[in-house]
Amino acid sequence: MPPAKTKNLSRTRAPQNRALPKSATWELHTSTNGTGFLQVPAFNAFPWLTHGFSTSKGGVSTLNGSKLLNLGFTEWDARENVQKNRRLFQAALNANELVLVSLKQFHSDVVCDFSSAPHEPCSADASITDTPDLLLGVQTADCVPILLLDPKKRAVAAVHAGWRGTLQRIVEKTIGRMKMEFKSDPVDLLAAIGPAIGGCCYEVGTEVAAAFHSQFADAPEWFDELRTGDEPNPLQWLNQFPPGHQPPPKNVRLDLRKANRAQLLAAGLSRQNIFVSDLCTACRPDLLFSYRKQGSESGRMMSVMGIRAEK
Ligand SMILES: [Zn+2]
Repeated sequence: MPPAKTKNLSRTRAPQNRALPKSATWELHTSTNGTGFLQVPAFNAFPWLTHGFSTSKGGVSTLNGSKLLNLGFTEWDARENVQKNRRLFQAALNANELVLVSLKQFHSDVVCDFSSAPHEPCSADASITDTPDLLLGVQTADCVPILLLDPKKRAVAAVHAGWRGTLQRIVEKTIGRMKMEFKSDPVDLLAAIGPAIGGCCYEVGTEVAAAFHSQFADAPEWFDELRTGDEPNPLQWLNQFPPGHQPPPKNVRLDLRKANRAQLLAAGLSRQNIFVSDLCTACRPDLLFSYRKQGSESGRMMSVMGIRAEK
């Protein structure tokens, strides 16, 4: 169903004389109930599919005088508000008839395969299904949400990848499960990598960089500089600190979306089937939630995808 208002991000943000940014493949919608959400038009080509990435826009939660669409149970928000917001988000996607299946996320590489809605949330960081009427969802507020679609086998997946999940290759493992359970061929898969904290803002310790460098040959491409904490500190000869008392090395910046895109390519997806949002949660407090930026007052966004039963 076409939402009330549609804003193509490329139209408002890209100068005409330059190549279109990645956001050109994403649309920001505002539903009639005020809910703001992002979609990938390529996914809307399938009438049996519903999907969306929420923003902070809309909702009934109140924080510092603003109304927000908080979709996760947080300390500052009432449970009823979150439940109401989830209903508003589903209504905005015209997906009221689907049962939302969220996860108890714990930065793991665990993938749950759902053939029906569970009574208790499953402890995992990715879910897969080929069963209609289930709306798979992952919650994020900086971490990377990834939706995977197999149009041939009519199967979907939702993945939550923070640095720990990315290091554990959760998106590759999710594709592995789709191959096993649904006989998916990676070359058929479409992937949407949603808004997350960008390489512009995501500082991690050099020990995280060291862990990535030990696991991935192309890890240097995902960091702003190549440092793992083992390098001799040239400053120690210039500063006043006695040996052994140097300040700890400063952080490096990690681009988690790049790392996950590389894993999708390694798993066999085609370049043209991977849609990456260029929205950074920390740079866009007007539109998105960021745990790094807002701390315990941050809300949670949800990225969902499901198969509609044929009527
Ligand atoms: Zn940023």
